[in-house]
Amino acid sequence: MNVVPILNYHGIEKQEGEYVWSETERPYVISTGNFSRQFDFLSANQFKSLSSDELGQWLMGSFPCERPMVLTFDDGHVSHYEHVAPMLKARNFKAIFFVPAGLVGQSHQMTWEQLKELVRNGFEIGSHGFSHVPLSNLTHHELWKELERSKLVLENRLGIKVKSFSVPRGYYQLRIREAALDLGYRFIFTSRFDINYRKQDHLRLNRLVVKRRLSFNRFTQIVRGDLGYIRVLEKAKETARRFLKPSFYDALADVKRLLTHG
Ligand SMILES: [Zn+2]
Repeated sequence: MNVVPILNYHGIEKQEGEYVWSETERPYVISTGNFSRQFDFLSANQFKSLSSDELGQWLMGSFPCERPMVLTFDDGHVSHYEHVAPMLKARNFKAIFFVPAGLVGQSHQMTWEQLKELVRNGFEIGSHGFSHVPLSNLTHHELWKELERSKLVLENRLGIKVKSFSVPRGYYQLRIREAALDLGYRFIFTSRFDINYRKQDHLRLNRLVVKRRLSFNRFTQIVRGDLGYIRVLEKAKETARRFLKPSFYDALADVKRLLTHG
């Protein structure tokens, strides 16, 4: 395949009520049952999970791989330690966990000890900012501090090199790229819903977010790069987010719900 899907997950739960989720988190939470089904599909179809270094090589055309993919998990939720890591390990999958460094150890967040165990098990840890605030509202100085502090704290506490940054809420801006580049990050993972082709900008990677209501069928299509109308809708949503007032954005989200599930 000449494309690499980068999947983006958030919280996972065994059954409803296992964890408490906020209203904004809930649409992104999937069950361990659905998660298993998706990962068994990836396994059975010979998808190979790449590390960030391997992804960099693949994008430059120097990493031969029939079916590459990258697995990313945002927000540092404790379900990543309790459910996700064991399920990945059982299937021999690599993954990048993006952690808001300033929230480590808070309620429902992984602790430093748990993060260390992930590192010992060969998983990558990336920065998801320090305090998990959307960067678009910050001054240049505040933005810089979010990227710098999170990298330093993760590196010092875990004894690793942090190469990747996942943009909180996905709002990508050119100044994020500039700060990341200056601070020594090599990869920026955004929430732009698309697959990646060779030569894709390392500092602006697209991802396929997996939401609660994504059907299994649709999942098998998007990992193959067949995004169909989802891409059109997600692009419209992205544009709306940027240019329209919140009420228009909500109206568009309603249209999308209608088209997807109506
Ligand atoms: Zn996040």
